[in-house]
Amino acid sequence: MTWSIRWKVMTGTLVAVACGLFIAGAMTIQALERQHLAQLGETLEAKTKLVEYGFQSLFGAGHPSPLPTQLQDTTRDLGNRAAARVTLIAVDGTVLADSAVRDADLSTLENHKSRPEVDQAFSTGQGHDVRSSHTTGERVMYRAVLMKTAQDTSPLVVRVGLPMVVLDRELSETRKHLFLSLGAAFLVALTLSVWLAHSITKPLSDIVSAARQLDAGNHALHIRTTAQDEVGLLACTLNRVADQLQTKIDELSEDRAQLLAVLTSMVEGVMVLDYRGHVLQVNPALERMFGISRVEARGRPCTDLFRHQQLNELVAIILRSPAHHQDEIVLPLTGRCLQIEASPAGGRRENEACVVLVFHDITDLRRLEKIRKDFVANVSHELRTPLTSIKGYVEALLDGAKDDPVASTKFLDIILKQSDRLNLIIEDLLELSKIESGGISFKKEPIEPRSLVERALSVVKPIADKNRHHLTTAIDSRLPAVAGDEGRLVQVLTNLLDNAIKYTPKGGTITVAATPAPALTNTQPFANAIDISVADTGIGIPEQDRPRVFERFYRVDKARSRELGGTGLGLAIVKHIVEGHGGQVWVEANRPRGSRFVVRLLINPGTSVSGSVE
Ligand code: ADP
Repeated sequence: MTWSIRWKVMTGTLVAVACGLFIAGAMTIQALERQHLAQLGETLEAKTKLVEYGFQSLFGAGHPSPLPTQLQDTTRDLGNRAAARVTLIAVDGTVLADSAVRDADLSTLENHKSRPEVDQAFSTGQGHDVRSSHTTGERVMYRAVLMKTAQDTSPLVVRVGLPMVVLDRELSETRKHLFLSLGAAFLVALTLSVWLAHSITKPLSDIVSAARQLDAGNHALHIRTTAQDEVGLLACTLNRVADQLQTKIDELSEDRAQLLAVLTSMVEGVMVLDYRGHVLQVNPALERMFGISRVEARGRPCTDLFRHQQLNELVAIILRSPAHHQDEIVLPLTGRCLQIEASPAGGRRENEACVVLVFHDITDLRRLEKIRKDFVANVSHELRTPLTSIKGYVEALLDGAKDDPVASTKFLDIILKQSDRLNLIIEDLLELSKIESGGISFKKEPIEPRSLVERALSVVKPIADKNRHHLTTAIDSRLPAVAGDEGRLVQVLTNLLDNAIKYTPKGGTITVAATPAPALTNTQPFANAIDISVADTGIGIPEQDRPRVFERFYRVDKARSRELGGTGLGLAIVKHIVEGHGGQVWVEANRPRGSRFVVRLLINPGTSVSGSVE
């Protein structure tokens, strides 16, 4: 059983008080008894002397031996005067006279030789004893003295017995009062000990319950106490500790929330490892990059989790030599290119950040870099080809061909063509650069799709006719006006039609269609856009090349494109103009053959779809 402090304090105090009171009571009673006995002894001694003196009248010199009746009378008389029992005993122990016994009964009294006080008196001259009387049963104090008689050679013993009944009554009375006082004192001590135990243990119990609340996570507690002692000090200290704890927890929570917000909002993937290379933390960006979840990642060795040799080697290196490292990896599954910055964080124990790895997805950067490099290479190449040709023919002319009228005409014709081509490329490049840099602002005027298509067709019709192509249209008459820059949008359709003519063998069919864009939801019959498509029955574009044909200088068949006078920039210009209008352009396969380019344009706000296909 566990005793609470309250019970321990109470019991301890009470036991101590009870022991103290008991010892004090016992000693007081003993002292009182000793004092009373001493007083009674003195009284008895005085009375014995008086009685002894009283007997001198019978046994003094010149007195005859007294008769038994005389002895008995004198003894009774002396007993009455002394208010005590007087006994006269012969040397053999025979009672000669006794004030408390009738004359007739005297002979029946037993021999008193063996009485301790009588025995002592015969041997030392005096003796005393305290005992209960055989006759009355009360306690009696006896004193016996040896008395010499003039008549007889053998001495007598005079014994005086003083009953202690009064003394005993007084003692028992005193004892009763003492017990009552001690009982009252004990009750006072009990009350005080209960109060003391309560006053000591109440703040302690408050502290215990406060500590329990602290343990349960409630740090906003406050122990109320007015005590100025150690317990009060303890309560104040605990209050301060709880306040500090709360402040620290608040600070930590804020820091943690901010850290989490930073980690969560970061585009870069972040992974924190301990000194063993086990994952402590990953952020959502990293989860997305590697397709893992934070729960499965935490606590696992990095090497098990990623199984990417280059990454694992980098981790091993930085764990071995804590310094800043950088590397680039390509993820086999997604093909994404990641730049890794690994920095030591200083942790040397389990669950302490030892290495922080930051993953930047530089796939787009690398792609753009490649496009830029390709572009520079392509531009140089594209410009050099006609220039080389021009230079070659000019040199040939200078070398003497100028004197040959037929050759010189042919050469000059080629030089003109190449210059035109050079001019075309430069114009296209400038155009593209202007659109890209935002140097051209597109107008937002309502344009009828039909007029747009007709204007573009009128531009390409002579070449189409020359190639004996069939130009057909399918324009939905319900179509609303689109919002845009008519001149630029005609340029888009012209480029697409020009390509369709170029990449379709003679006698092909080229269809221009305009329809409402399919709705994205069931509640709305049409999206707020229209699709204008240019479909041909030409050579088509392989599926893998389709996403790339909108890149600058990308050609499926370079030689063929050049031969047909293409610059490789037409579709790039188309894409930029369409996207500048907030639209989209893509290419798909045309059934049964050829390509189909689709341009999706937003309709002019305030107009709606109505009409039918013609
Ligand atoms: P180019 O001046 O070479 O035509 P574009 O940018 O207009 O350059 O087109 C890029 C490439 O896309 C072309 O070289 C060609 O290979 C391909 N292409 C474009 N339109 C068509 C089409 N209608 N049919 C087949 N291939 C096409």
